[in-house]
Amino acid sequence: MNRISHWIDGRLSEGTSGRTATVYNPATGETSGKVDLADGGEVDAAVAAAAAAFPAWRATSLSRRAEVLFHLRELVDANRKEIASLLTAEHGKVLSDALGEVARGLENIEFACGIPHLLKGAYSEQAATGVDVYSIRQPLGVVAGITPFNFPAMVPMWMFANALACGNTFVLKPSEKDPSASLLMAELLAKAGLPAGCFNVVQGDKVAVDRLLEHPDVMAISFVGSTPIARYIYETGTANGKRVQALGGAKNHMLVLPDADLDMAADAAISAGYGSAGERCMAISVVVAVESIADELVGKIRDRIPGIRVGAGAEPDSEMGPLVTGEHRDKVAAYVAGAGDEGADVVVDGREDAPDQGFFLNPSLLDRVRPGMAAYDDEIFGPVLSVVRVDSYDEGLAMINDNPYGNGVALFTRDGGVAREFQYDVNVGMVGVNVPIPVPVSYYSFGGWKASLFGDSHMYGPEGVQFYTRAKVVTSRWPDPRTSTIDLGFPQNR
Ligand code: NAD
Repeated sequence: MNRISHWIDGRLSEGTSGRTATVYNPATGETSGKVDLADGGEVDAAVAAAAAAFPAWRATSLSRRAEVLFHLRELVDANRKEIASLLTAEHGKVLSDALGEVARGLENIEFACGIPHLLKGAYSEQAATGVDVYSIRQPLGVVAGITPFNFPAMVPMWMFANALACGNTFVLKPSEKDPSASLLMAELLAKAGLPAGCFNVVQGDKVAVDRLLEHPDVMAISFVGSTPIARYIYETGTANGKRVQALGGAKNHMLVLPDADLDMAADAAISAGYGSAGERCMAISVVVAVESIADELVGKIRDRIPGIRVGAGAEPDSEMGPLVTGEHRDKVAAYVAGAGDEGADVVVDGREDAPDQGFFLNPSLLDRVRPGMAAYDDEIFGPVLSVVRVDSYDEGLAMINDNPYGNGVALFTRDGGVAREFQYDVNVGMVGVNVPIPVPVSYYSFGGWKASLFGDSHMYGPEGVQFYTRAKVVTSRWPDPRTSTIDLGFPQNR
């Protein structure tokens, strides 16, 4: 049995809590390993290793830190396939999708290679006579990342690339559903020259998370996962005096206007709705169709569904893999089962003809879904596309803005004026214009609005650098015997 353990102070560390969780191969449904679940003492050991490594790593020159990141960039690049295979084996996503995940994660390491430039402060000479003022950004110390099952490599890279580049040390608590990629990344970081203790992995569940949330030496928490847990992490972490960015769930709409290219819109709905079996926080889950083109659009989406090749992620032909666990597959299937009773049209029922081995569910298409139905109100996180019909652009926009989530949204139109109005008015953090999955490139930052993000700071990019550093402003005067006087007044900028 494959045993998946912790990585503490530069080496593998077998769990001692006696608690484990099962890791599955979602394509077969078989158990592929057991992952250790840390207790508080094991979390403490990881935090202690990170705290001990911090002073030396913080003092390491910017050019040396950048050098480690450049090495890491080469190693991740050289090991793309190995990382992707681990993702496919434990998450189930198809290899091409897993390679895409690694590529989008790698962007964040490339961004962090520019850390000497990114940490430059400002300098004002002669702010007052003989007085200069300058700002610097300093690392926080030990920071922690808690990550979801759906991007076991990319989301950790969103966090640790900038955190380490800024001079912090890091404790990662990956999802217990697909924990192996985190250990491969730990090995690659060590090979890249990162000193022991700077990057640690504690495998675990709520017990490990709660210890990180209360640990006095953890200065900041980055979280990505579902909304109820994101809210809990934010409230508990901030109550304990930590800096917290907590990204939550999503319900992403794609508004299709009558002037849109409907074939392009249908292709996009298929790709963004069923890619990664819908287990993406930026997946499109609701197509909002203006009534005049709704029949035609639904027909085009329906006609494309039989062409989607569902199969094991490791098979080169597969386009859509299984869901992550049997439990999650059953939960998603229940939304399809319930949609008809709530008054939706089940145009394609993905429960039919799904492979009986593994955690598969075929793509489903629901039409005439409305707010108030479970298929609309809940984040399903599976291969289920709902179509909501509206009479006008205004009605579609109002519905999107009323939705409690605000992660991603897409508009399909040929009208630039309407697109501009939409980006101005929509209450969503990441907007695509004829782009269905508008995940920002690494030199912008990623984050939703409303219940999709708790905290002030988006993740990675410039906001990531801000999150992992704190600002200090120095006001300095060098002794000049020619100007020295006694002055008890408040110093003024003269
Ligand atoms: P999850 O919230 O169940 O788990 C996320 C992390 O929290 C895991 O590491 C898990 O071990 C831990 N956790 C789970 N329950 C906990 C509890 N009660 N107390 C403390 N910690 C707990 O999420 P998931 O199912 O792994 O991932 C899917 C969710 O993540 C979806 O809702 C998806 O939208 C969201 N997500 C959001 C983004 C984003 O950028 N906004 C990106 C990816 C995923």
